[in-house]
Formats: sequence, C-alpha cells, structure tokens
Amino acid sequence: MSLQTFDRYESRVRSYCRSFPTVFEHAEGSRLYDSNGKPYLDFFAGAGVLNYGHNHPVLKQALLAYIIRKGISHSLDMATTAKADFLDAFQRHILAPRGMQYKLQFPGPTGTNCVEAALKLARKVKGREKVISFTNAFHGMTLGALAVSGNAFKRRSAGIGLSCAVSMPFCGYFGADVDTIRYMDRYLSDYGSGVDLPAAIIVETVQAEGGLNVADSDWLQRLAAVCRKHDLLLIVDDIQVGCGRTGSFFSFEEAGIQPDIVCLSKALSGYGLPLALLLIKPELDIWEPGEHNGTFRGHNLAFVTAAKTLELFWSNKHLTRDIAGKSRLLINGLKRIIGSQPAAHARLKGRGLILGLEFEHPQLATTAARIAFSHGLLIETSGSRNQVLKLLPPLTTDRAELRAGLEIIDVSLRQALGELQLIPYDAAAN
Ligand SMILES: *Cc1c(COP(=O)(O)O)cnc(C)c1O
Repeated sequence: MSLQTFDRYESRVRSYCRSFPTVFEHAEGSRLYDSNGKPYLDFFAGAGVLNYGHNHPVLKQALLAYIIRKGISHSLDMATTAKADFLDAFQRHILAPRGMQYKLQFPGPTGTNCVEAALKLARKVKGREKVISFTNAFHGMTLGALAVSGNAFKRRSAGIGLSCAVSMPFCGYFGADVDTIRYMDRYLSDYGSGVDLPAAIIVETVQAEGGLNVADSDWLQRLAAVCRKHDLLLIVDDIQVGCGRTGSFFSFEEAGIQPDIVCLSKALSGYGLPLALLLIKPELDIWEPGEHNGTFRGHNLAFVTAAKTLELFWSNKHLTRDIAGKSRLLINGLKRIIGSQPAAHARLKGRGLILGLEFEHPQLATTAARIAFSHGLLIETSGSRNQVLKLLPPLTTDRAELRAGLEIIDVSLRQALGELQLIPYDAAAN
C-alpha cells in the first residue's frame, strides 16, 4: 500500500508519517509491521504513550471482556463501575503507597486538555493571571498550553498573541555555571524586576520534546522552595515522563517534591487509549461543578485498561528495578557509540528510559533517524533544532531488542556521518 491516499485526502499538517513513510498495519510488543509485512522495532512508542508496548495481551483481554459484557463506553462524568475501579486502583497502587493525597480530575482525554485545566485552576486559586514556564518547554498545542511552551514555530501556529506567560531559563540553560533558580528568585523578589507575581510555575522534570534536558533533583527541590517562598503553585507536567518513563511512577519522586498539581496523560491508559488525569492537592479543588468540562472525559475503555495496567505493573517494584537495569544497558551502549564515533561530537542526554544523543551538526540527528528507519527502527528527534536523537522504547522492550536498536543506531549514525561528509568515505562503508 502506498502513501498516495494520505497525500491526496489528508491535510498537510501531518508530520510523523513523513519521518516514518510507510503504512502500518499491526503491532505487538515493541514491534510494528507495515502493510508489506516488514517489521519495525519501535523506539518511539507513540511519543511515550505505549510504555507497555503494543497490544499487551493482558490489557487487551481486560478490554475485550469489558466490551463483551456490554460495559459502558461513554458516560461524560457520570459514575460508572469502570471509573470506580480506576479510582480505587490509583489510590491503592499509586497514591497510598507514596503517602500522597490528591483529588483526581478527568479533563478531556488529551495532554493539552489537562494542561489547560491545570492553568485555569491555578489562576482561579491564586487570583493571578501570569504563569512562569521554562525555555524549551512543551505543554501542548491549545492556546493556554502554547503560551507556556517555548518552540517558536509551534507558538506562531497560534496566529494570535500568546499571553499571561513568563519564560524563565530551565536547569542548565546557561551552562553549568549559572544558577537559574537564583536568577528566577531574584526576578520574583525584586520590586523593580518588571515581572508580575504569577499564579504558578509549570515545569517538566525532563523536557522530552525540548531536547531531553533534565532538571536535577536539587534544582527541583529549590524550585519547590521558590514556589513556597513566593506563594506560587507548582505544576508538574508529567504527561510524557510520568507513568514510569524515568523509573518511578512519577518522574519527581527521586527529588522528593510534592507538586500542587500534576498532569498525566500519554501512557496512563497503558494501551494507547486517550486518557488524561489532573491531580490536585485537596485544598485547591475549588472548582464549581461543571466549571471545566468536556464531552469525552470518563473514557471508560481507557479506565479499564488503565486500572489493569496499575494492577499489573505498579503493584510492586519489579518494573522500576527493570527500568533501572535497561536504562544502564542503553546508557552504556550510547557511551560506546559516543566513544567509537568521535566525529559525531555526540553528548548523552536524558534519564531512565528517555535517553538520547545530542549533536552539534544540525542535520545529524534527523539524517541518522531517517537511515535508522530504512534499517527497521522507528526513532524520533527532539529539541528546538531537532538536534537530539531520542530513544523512547516501550518500558517492556526486552534486552535483546534494546541491543538490536543500539546496533541500528550505531550503523545509522556512521552512515549519516558519511552522507553528511563528516567522516572519510571508507569509515562510513559498513
Ligand atoms: C505530549 C505532551 C503534551 C500534550 O499532550 P497532547 O495529548 O498531545 O495534547 C503536553 N505536555 C507534555 C510534556 C507532552 O509530552
């Protein structure tokens, strides 16, 4: 099957099908198959949606059983048994063991919906309109979320002025020597800074779209302290790097902070079904009934697979330990690639199972990703100039598959260096 149908009928706005130009037909675990039966190893995982791979058999069975017994599929925010099961499972497997107390809000089922709800609630709670966000942040494509996102191309798509947001430098933005928390604290403390007191600060602990920039634990702790000092809410957007991507269920657990509001979505349903969840400190839950709503909130099919996912993967520490081991495997592999291909001038980025190589050459990451696709590996780039090759395999990818992916990255990078004439021809030959 060709891509003609898509070219003819579908808007130019589509983008991933340009990086991965084939027609996919089915998928299982960490592999997708196109309509010619060609397998692809998936180091993209639906941008972090498919943390447990494609069509996990236990989740699929739970979903099929629910459909067959005529379970409710749509219910707005009415009470259903599927929702009750999810609420109980989230309490039992996630919040209670961590000693966390949050109220749960289901906005519309996408990440950007969740961010909009978080921003609205923070503004309502504090009665202030500004929100601080960070350089290279990505929080979604609706107007409120775009206003707190960094990327100029995406921001321009709004077509109107994006307001009520203040951008501050993320951890390490000016290099290791500049303390960006001190910089921000000074702006907030000084009556002459020109920065109005905001309602909240919104942050990603790892900037997944922004180039795999990691906020270290010390920085996050001091960020939380700045929020307390200036009476601001701390919103963590854990949409991409929560749900186990960094090892623990929440990405901020290592830092030991307790954000006021947490956004979850992408991998939450465990099966690729749309679901978003806002966690709210109980005392901040001042919504009036219906003040923020949406037709596709209680997505019951997603509740079914999400509850099953929590029971299956998050009722003990096995997955967290497994992720740590797999992370080490990938880090070691990437370090070997960095060492053996000095012409690439690559730098390791990320943590847990969101890892990457950052290059100085502007085309190296995209060229290597394109070549990797031809060798049967789905891998994306990230960063404001697409300068980072981003590894995002399902958390359940086995070690042999991780090694196979590293092998393809190694070969593809070597070929990309050759194609861009960054190394002599014969070194690129294999
Ligand atoms: C993907 C993403 C969003 C937006 O989610 P959508 O479902 O695409 O609206 C917001 N924040 C982060 C960190 C994301 O990775």
